[in-house]
Amino acid sequence: MALSCVSAFGCAESYIFKRPEGAHRVIVTGTHQTITVSGNGSAAAKAEVERLVREANSFFSSDLVIPSRVHLEVAAGNNDEPFALLHFGETPRIFVPYLNEAEVGGKAFTGVALHEHGHLLGTGTLEAIAAEKYPHLAALHEARVRAGELANKVRLGGLRAMALSEMLRGRVVIEEKIAVQQRIARMRQSKQTQINGWLREIDKIQEATHNAPLPMFVGYEELLADLVTVAKTGDEQAIYHALVRDGRACESYPATARDFTLGHKPEGWTEDDVHALLSPAASHVIERYFRDPRFAARKPYVIRQVAEAAAEDLNERFLDVSLQNIKPEDANVRLIAKIDARLRAH
Ligand SMILES: [Zn+2]
Repeated sequence: MALSCVSAFGCAESYIFKRPEGAHRVIVTGTHQTITVSGNGSAAAKAEVERLVREANSFFSSDLVIPSRVHLEVAAGNNDEPFALLHFGETPRIFVPYLNEAEVGGKAFTGVALHEHGHLLGTGTLEAIAAEKYPHLAALHEARVRAGELANKVRLGGLRAMALSEMLRGRVVIEEKIAVQQRIARMRQSKQTQINGWLREIDKIQEATHNAPLPMFVGYEELLADLVTVAKTGDEQAIYHALVRDGRACESYPATARDFTLGHKPEGWTEDDVHALLSPAASHVIERYFRDPRFAARKPYVIRQVAEAAAEDLNERFLDVSLQNIKPEDANVRLIAKIDARLRAH
């Protein structure tokens, strides 16, 4: 759930199956996780994000994959940056911006932090399932993770060039100014060559994965992240609260489409924004299972079954090109049938 789009691939967050460190090769169970924290946020805000992450790890550890490492970046006074899960190198990075200290620990703050950590848990679990059962899908994950890392590098390359230009502003001695300008010109040149190389590599990966459409993948990730948030908070409006901050609704994404008290139905669903594409499936899981006393204490298990159904569905759609651009309504109907098939027996 990003508030704005910043990368070449679309939204900074979640445009791809990001691979939590080691989740592909070793399924990390239990709640042990190395957590590092940075950012200009207050000590209280940082402690709160860390607490939410640790509690979520412990809550979901029996059923979802807990990545071995995570870095949390907590930024104060900020509502314009996208809140995001970014994969930088081997340690996944969660960016949690907040407006002011009054927000810390509140519904919006909690919703943002848990949704982003939910991406890590949900996607890590999807990947572990794919690695075990669906080799084609696992290979596709790998390629798209690589493309995502390259896209991040392209973005960072641009940011670094901008930072160097900023250096010029403070320079007063003319010789020094000229020296910095020359350095920038040299760096720009070498960066551009690097960036062009990365862009060519991304194109190759896209081609090798049949240009499988982005929403097809990201929709499942958003669904899992939303379910993790609702399960942990017990609040069916948790995502809605994260999107309507300071009385201002997020402009890019319809908040009501993720208010799960509204009971979204697949019939006639046309929302194709990746964040809300599978909202009827999320609504179904919440109404049919989270609210059922037989499942209420086993929400992590329910989410695991949703991830199993999602991996199965993704694999089928990956192998059959005719299923790649289906309507939002049909995508929800397919997934709901698979979820029910897994949970009906209970
Ligand atoms: Zn998201």
